[in-house]
Amino acid sequence: MKTKHSVIKGVFPSNKGMTLIEVTVVIALILSLIAILLVGFNAYKLGADRAKCLLNISNIQKAGRSWCNLNEVSAGETAPNPVLSESDLIAKSGGASAKNVFIPYEPKCPSHSTSYTIKVSPIPDVGEAFATCADPDFGGKPASAGGHLPKSTDGW
Ligand SMILES: [Zn+2]
Repeated sequence: MKTKHSVIKGVFPSNKGMTLIEVTVVIALILSLIAILLVGFNAYKLGADRAKCLLNISNIQKAGRSWCNLNEVSAGETAPNPVLSESDLIAKSGGASAKNVFIPYEPKCPSHSTSYTIKVSPIPDVGEAFATCADPDFGGKPASAGGHLPKSTDGW
């Protein structure tokens, strides 16, 4: 009569452990899984950086339009009075006090920690962004191509 023990013994004929080929196959499987995870993590980081950069650009836009509303300056005005400066919107390190600005820290693109190119004169027209990403790799490309340009600035 065949016992359960002898069936297992038939599948694994020796109880000395794994052969070199079996160990190599297991290591190759583990390494390929790690490679897949690293590729996925890189794509995740690129997407997260793009989302944060677009959020920063959106926040600078809202700060700029808020300043215009508070100071009764129209979009597209070429010589506004008072004059909008970058330090009215963003507290730069060593610059304006964080209490008197709309964004109390200097936003930077998370990809390479580059500052944003901010247009304050003339005041950007409706649909035009106050800030653009200055990252050399992602700043000029649209979001659909992995870049940091907003898909649409309609109504900005
Ligand atoms: Zn960016």
